[in-house]
Amino acid sequence: MRFCVICEVREAKERHHLLPRARGGSGYRTIGVCRECGKGIHKTFKNKQLENNYNTISRLKEYYYDNGCQWKKGKDKKDKKIKEMLDYNDREIRRVMGWFEDNYGK
Ligand SMILES: [Zn+2]
Repeated sequence: MRFCVICEVREAKERHHLLPRARGGSGYRTIGVCRECGKGIHKTFKNKQLENNYNTISRLKEYYYDNGCQWKKGKDKKDKKIKEMLDYNDREIRRVMGWFEDNYGK
């Protein structure tokens, strides 16, 4: 088994183009990465950023380790959590109001 070049802990199951294919990287160097890193890289960066700033293993690794071994920035995760909480509150309010209407409504 080969390990992911970036995180070095998960199995490398896919190839990542250091220069995005959309930016002419088809014949360019690829590296073996795990699914999490493969997806994470593209969720985190736009092709333009990959082409200009994150086109080497060391730059990608630096970002990954500086960000606490995760891809998306902490802020995005927090925003998602808050959104989930608000959605949950909305559902609860509707549920309770429905209950009141059923029991005390006209
Ligand atoms: Zn990985």
